[in-house]
Amino acid sequence: MDFPIEKTKMGDDRKFNLSDPKEREEYFKLKCGVEIEKLKEHLNSGHTFIAYLLGKKNSGKGTYSKMFSEVIGAEKIEHLSVGDMVRAIDEEMQDPQKKADLVEFLEKNYRGFYALEDIIKSLEDRDTKSLLPDEIILVLVKREITKRKGKVILLDGFPRNLDQVSFSLFFRDLVDYRDDPDVFVLIDVPMNIINERIKWRRICPKCNASRSLRLLPTSKIGQDEGGYYLICDEANCDGGKMVMKEGDEKGIEPIKDRLLMDEEILRKAYSLYGVPKVLLRNAIPADVARDYVDDYEMTPGYSFETVDGEIKIIEEPWIVADDEGVQCVSLQAAPVVVSMIKQLVEVFKI
Ligand SMILES: [Zn+2]
Repeated sequence: MDFPIEKTKMGDDRKFNLSDPKEREEYFKLKCGVEIEKLKEHLNSGHTFIAYLLGKKNSGKGTYSKMFSEVIGAEKIEHLSVGDMVRAIDEEMQDPQKKADLVEFLEKNYRGFYALEDIIKSLEDRDTKSLLPDEIILVLVKREITKRKGKVILLDGFPRNLDQVSFSLFFRDLVDYRDDPDVFVLIDVPMNIINERIKWRRICPKCNASRSLRLLPTSKIGQDEGGYYLICDEANCDGGKMVMKEGDEKGIEPIKDRLLMDEEILRKAYSLYGVPKVLLRNAIPADVARDYVDDYEMTPGYSFETVDGEIKIIEEPWIVADDEGVQCVSLQAAPVVVSMIKQLVEVFKI
């Protein structure tokens, strides 16, 4: 797979703090203001589209979706997570009225290899580990999309296996989604970056806030025999030592199979003809990064040092090897979303 590098470098003196919503708004206006207006106008005149977000687990699909709707307008865009949808079905099965509606919908719409009675039975006493057959996922996604007529759908978690990639080619026809187009949004994030994100993740045991000791530290740092640690600085939390979630020390190891499958889906989607594609890359070779992006668009790494009893936070470029072993910088979410907006305007010829 060969994903182009989007040039978002402007090189002027203006720097943006991309974690500040107000500055982020100005940033987007500067980097792709024209495209944002075009896309907004397009959506305001009644157009929508379905985007299949394809990328490895933990590649940031949720973050990109959230930022995309923040920029384009949350009222026009729906992030539809198939994982959340399946969890919601579990709850629907507990409510007699909702369950009856669901069963009625399935009786009208389901076609597949398993008897509907068996599927309903498995929905009733499903443990979260067992997977639902593709045909049922398909019809449930269809139901969710139909509920969201007139909106852009960012579909996250479908296709999740190779068979579903083929389904997705005809999905637009299946769901009768007016004449609006669909697009594959392929997100390429190296394994190492996902691995590091998991390993450095720290959670507040009191308020569940999630930060990163290496990539997104809090403003307060502590130190004990285990080394430096983050102190939660959420406004409504009285603070405390943030800790590693059990299992995170293994990094990507427990989800390696899932990641390899996601990678295969990405490759298959990449090779398909006929469906337009938006290609997003998170990592850029470090030796050329400065030709393409401004410094503040790169994800910094943090480390700590104690000087005269005071802990200092050191910020420096974060360099990580990609899947081919090339030393790379990782982009912040905002420049990736800039690339997404520009490419969407191009593929839909807006
Ligand atoms: Zn907290």
